[in-house]
Amino acid sequence: MANNKVSEKAADEIIRRVSNENINTKNEAYNIKRLVSKEFSIPLINDSELYRKSKLRVFSRKPSRSLSGVSVIAVMTSPAKCPHGKCVFCPGGVEFMTPQSYTGEEPAALRGRMFKYDAFRQVRSRIKQYYILGQTPSKAELIIMGGTFTNRAWNYQKNFVKDCFDALNGKRSRSLKSAQLLNEHAKHRCVGLTVETRPDEINDKIITRLLELGATRVELGVQSVHDKILKNSKRGHTVRDIVKATKLLKNAGFKINYHLMTNMPGSNAKKDFESFRKVFSNENFKPDMVKIYPTLLIKGTELHNLYDNGEWVPYSLKETVGLISRIKRIIPKYVRVMRIQRDIPSFKIVQDLKNSNLRQLVNEEMKHKDWKCSCIRCREAGRNKGDFSKAAIKTMKYNASNGVEYFIEYSDNNNVLFGFARLRMMKNFMFIRELHVYGEQAIIGEEGSIQHRGIGKKLMLKAEELAEKLGLKKIKVISGVGVREYYRKLGYSRDWFYMSKNI
Ligand code: SF4
Ligand SMILES: [Zn+2]
Repeated sequence: MANNKVSEKAADEIIRRVSNENINTKNEAYNIKRLVSKEFSIPLINDSELYRKSKLRVFSRKPSRSLSGVSVIAVMTSPAKCPHGKCVFCPGGVEFMTPQSYTGEEPAALRGRMFKYDAFRQVRSRIKQYYILGQTPSKAELIIMGGTFTNRAWNYQKNFVKDCFDALNGKRSRSLKSAQLLNEHAKHRCVGLTVETRPDEINDKIITRLLELGATRVELGVQSVHDKILKNSKRGHTVRDIVKATKLLKNAGFKINYHLMTNMPGSNAKKDFESFRKVFSNENFKPDMVKIYPTLLIKGTELHNLYDNGEWVPYSLKETVGLISRIKRIIPKYVRVMRIQRDIPSFKIVQDLKNSNLRQLVNEEMKHKDWKCSCIRCREAGRNKGDFSKAAIKTMKYNASNGVEYFIEYSDNNNVLFGFARLRMMKNFMFIRELHVYGEQAIIGEEGSIQHRGIGKKLMLKAEELAEKLGLKKIKVISGVGVREYYRKLGYSRDWFYMSKNI
């Protein structure tokens, strides 16, 4: 009886968090289930039980499609040292037999270890999981995780990515190139490929390699935009490296996701806030997406020694929530806050950020203060109820990394976002760095509730119109291998590693 009561309470808590946060993907709901079950020390509660109580669709067993539009498949690389040494807060690494930066207990790290870091088997297992959840991962976003991927041997990088494509194709190919060609028409297409790396690991040669791998987005471990703070944490790179990498990547059409930290040694909440303000207002930075990571105190790290010696003090939970709420308030509308707090199991965290669902606490704080976050994620249709009949195209222009960017969005009168295109004006052509349509993931060839309703086409036409007006002769797109076919239908053709069209 007592146990039942605990389970009931835990179920109510899960439902409360899932509805408060507008969670609509099974993955995110699963993370909340995991967190709450741990807090209540009970086994994971069944989705069917939660569905019976809440009638929330995210717990439904009926075949559903991914509401975020793409199915994320994270693949973990094998443990390897970072080229510069080790940052003071970094958990894991070769000496712990875990991928650098992971404790080994994160879901992706556990899966990696289980499959001996074999990319083919990791991807196959994720595809299988999606089918078990009643989803068809027809549009897969591959995310390659663990340490500094671009510093691994080139053969390792190529084979790793080829294995990912082979798994999506359900067939082994002879080379990376042939695996990519096969994927253009495969059932599970790679619509985007993300690689994590450091700002000092980006140069022209690495950029060409990234394009050859089929990468479309780079996650840069920026952490801070102050040299002194970077040095305190033994980051081994400078602000100049960040500025240079950002510019090189944007000029090659990549989407950029900055990892940014708060509470690094030598910083304080005021400095952190100013640092974020600089990231969003200084033209040298202006990333497309951010992950906000409060510094976590984990046993076995050098940071723990600093903490023991009184040289570093963690912010309280209240301070962290207040700071991140203030940061979210100044996020430009073309930036997406991808994540708040790392996915490190709470039992590994020493300070009072454990057992907390930070994103939810920040949302509650903002609601209380009547503040709004205008980032892409907070405005997405699927998370918000939008009025499609009131949707229209709006264009925003801004300067970044010695160039001009355009953010074209398709949104309704309440700014609920149905789709957007991210453009960069180059000397002779217009780059489309990102095209995204929100809503249910449509199986390729079928019509989804929002996707495939011609929004993508509308945004592309607007981009072409703009390019023409600016006197440019060509449009170039950085396209996931599995999206090339979509662009062909719009009159684009292969142009080195891109797709392009003369206008
Ligand atoms: S760069 Fe990242 S993975 Fe490498 S040591 Fe630093 S925190 Fe760890
Ligand atoms: Zn937001």
